[in-house]
Amino acid sequence: MNTLLLAIVAAALVVLVALLLRPMQHDEQPQPEEDERVSPLLRGINYLLSDKPDLALQEMVQVARLRSEAADVYMALGEMFRAKGEFGRAVRIHQNLLARPDLPKSMHLQASLALATDFQMGGLLDRALVQYQKVLDMQSDHAGALEASLRIREQSREWQAAEELLSRLERVRNCSYSSHRAYLFSEMARQALKSDDLETAAADAARALELDPACAPARMVEIDLALRSGRADDAAQGLTLLWEQAREHFPLVIPLLLAHEDFYRERGEALLMQLWQAHGDSELALAWLEALAARRSVAEAEALQARLQFSPASLRESLRLHAVLGEADDPHSRFARQWRKTAKNYACESCGVEVVEVRWQCPQCHAWGTLHPKSEEKI
Ligand SMILES: [Zn+2]
Repeated sequence: MNTLLLAIVAAALVVLVALLLRPMQHDEQPQPEEDERVSPLLRGINYLLSDKPDLALQEMVQVARLRSEAADVYMALGEMFRAKGEFGRAVRIHQNLLARPDLPKSMHLQASLALATDFQMGGLLDRALVQYQKVLDMQSDHAGALEASLRIREQSREWQAAEELLSRLERVRNCSYSSHRAYLFSEMARQALKSDDLETAAADAARALELDPACAPARMVEIDLALRSGRADDAAQGLTLLWEQAREHFPLVIPLLLAHEDFYRERGEALLMQLWQAHGDSELALAWLEALAARRSVAEAEALQARLQFSPASLRESLRLHAVLGEADDPHSRFARQWRKTAKNYACESCGVEVVEVRWQCPQCHAWGTLHPKSEEKI
């Protein structure tokens, strides 16, 4: 039997004992009405132990209607169903509890929050948001409800709403989340850029960089905007800042440079070469070779390799180089190319999850800016 179930049975027994003892203090003669209170609880426990959750639920509803202490049992039961992934049952329990006219105010907040969590975990995000709002109507500085709503807005890519929630959370907790906010503004900027709203993109990127100059996606929007409007000096300055402040993500900008041929020929190529010669950064060399092979030709990548004289220092680097420059009919290169498509290139510093493509927000722990390029392949 799992510990949660044990806890529920124990809590139910406490209520049961309280029910049995209480009439004795006031009246020596137990009334028939008291038996009505006890028997559904006993039946509920019996059903729980014999793994008949729906019947247990039915009995527990009866108990909760009769006595408010049983609400604790009810809450624990809801937690158990949610933990088992049975969201429908958890929702039924919490809705039943909220429908009780005699539910104390403190319990009301707790049950509302639990119901919102049921909806969220069951994937009903709109209903979860409405329910979290009800919690916030009761207690406007409820950090848990604010944080959960923020997560949902981020998940649905509603960045403006997310930013408002983050501001409220900052006030409630009296601390600054400037780097997190910078990423939210960078997402707004990226969204605006996609829909060709360049003015908004520029304003949001600037706001993000004001909050956190090392916010790589915002810097890349800034560079993109400069390249689009032919401001070569601004683009070059943006590249220098990206290198200085967010070096590990610098290689991501190389395909963008190749997309603007004039800039690449006149400034970009020389700038990359200068960085390579000064720092010998292998990630830079590999990303450059990969981007060139993908956008231009393998022949151009081979020519660049000859100029860079890059030699791989690890298995991972060797595989990546092989995937770009290896002969088409060579089985090793075929393997390297296959590996490259599915290789996990980024790992989260907080939760350790590994992903193929870069993400600014971790898909597992939802932290921002915690995914870093992996340096070596585990064997
Ligand atoms: Zn993570």
